[in-house]
Amino acid sequence: MALISCPECNRSGVSSTTNACPGCGFNIYKHRQKPSLSEIWKDICERTERKFREREWEKNQKEIKEREKKAHDAHVDAIISGIKMAEKNRREEQRKYIKPDISD
Ligand SMILES: [Zn+2]
Repeated sequence: MALISCPECNRSGVSSTTNACPGCGFNIYKHRQKPSLSEIWKDICERTERKFREREWEKNQKEIKEREKKAHDAHVDAIISGIKMAEKNRREEQRKYIKPDISD
C-alpha cells in the first residue's frame, strides 16, 4: 500500500488502495482505474449526443419563437382589420342618418 495525495483536495497520506478520499470523498477507486476504450468511446458518444441535442433544442427554440411571432403578427393583423371593419361599419351607419343634400 502506498500513500498518495488526493487528486481532488490534495490531502496527503491517503491510502492508494482506499475507495474514497477520507477528506473530500473523492472516488479514488474510480480515479485509479484507467478508463477502457469502450468507456472512452461511450463518453465521446454521450458528449456528441448531448451537443446534438443542445443544437436541436436551440433550433426548436428558434422555430417556436418564429412561430409565436407569426401567430402574434397574425393576431395583430386580425385586430387591426377588425377595428378597420368596425370603423367602416360605423361610417356606413352614420351615413344613413345624414340628411340628404337637397339644396339644388
Ligand atoms: Zn480529497
